[in-house]
Amino acid sequence: MSAPTKRVLLANPRGYCAGVDRAVITVEKALETYGAPVYVRKEIVHNRHVVETLRERGAIFVDEADEVPEGALVVFSAHGVSPAVHEQAAERGLRTIDATCPLVTKVHFEARRFAKEDYDILLIGHEGHEEVEGTAGEAPEHVQLVDTAEDVAKVEVRDPSKVIWLSQTTLSVDETMERVDQLRERFPDLQNPPSDDICYATQNRQVAVKALAPECELVLVVGSQNSSNSKRLVEVALQAGADAAYLVDFAHEVQESWLDGVSTVGVTSGASVPDNLVMDLLRWLAERGYGQVDEVTTANEKVAFALPAELRKALKA
Ligand code: SF4
Repeated sequence: MSAPTKRVLLANPRGYCAGVDRAVITVEKALETYGAPVYVRKEIVHNRHVVETLRERGAIFVDEADEVPEGALVVFSAHGVSPAVHEQAAERGLRTIDATCPLVTKVHFEARRFAKEDYDILLIGHEGHEEVEGTAGEAPEHVQLVDTAEDVAKVEVRDPSKVIWLSQTTLSVDETMERVDQLRERFPDLQNPPSDDICYATQNRQVAVKALAPECELVLVVGSQNSSNSKRLVEVALQAGADAAYLVDFAHEVQESWLDGVSTVGVTSGASVPDNLVMDLLRWLAERGYGQVDEVTTANEKVAFALPAELRKALKA
């Protein structure tokens, strides 16, 4: 029997990580426990479908805590907030539930610790990303953001023997190490973070897409444009050898022309993407002859986080 000419390689792990799962359940449980509306500062996770679904159930998304009526309940998103946001919420008498991913909280803790020890902290991350704003806000006088290679050239430190780098949790592992090498050329004593800041989920999804990309003429990443880890998956797929790679929120965004001459399609999804969106894409591909799906498994994830303490207390009461 000849091999099928069209197939899908499906990345595993893909989709929801433990931090996103926890954040989405937090808003759902808050709605069940306290009733609508529940205010959420920023998008709870960076995914259009998730945000729209929660909005339909009574969540109101705002940009800043000062848009929340005094005394109301607000959930802080998985990306974390700076101490200034907590203060602002307290001043307005808001009830808060903090759905910051524990792995982001870990980086906040590192920023506080090394600021206390009077280090200059070089935070590798994307300018304007909520997570970076929250982490930098822990010690604004000690943290400098390093996004591009140009930023590396501009950084000034007080004592080159007392410098450490930290990073956003959702970066490309390879690009971050490139940035670290560039920084180390300028500051040979640059210290590494005590443990990886790029989280397990980001790393695992990149490893899986790297494994399948060399065999694919096309890689489709399900995810939203404002999702850092999803965008990195497109870049990693291209760097690993895929001829083309695109980010789509929904199956209907895939252009038929992308499939021209393609026999193997790689499929994966960002850490904020529910798997029903991937299943929709697989159905769409099957209708076009890509019915054979082979999973490429590079890790088995068993990470789970407890719900925020504020919510656990309310659920027990
Ligand atoms: S991508 Fe990583 S840091 Fe972000 S919510 Fe998921 S587990 Fe947490």
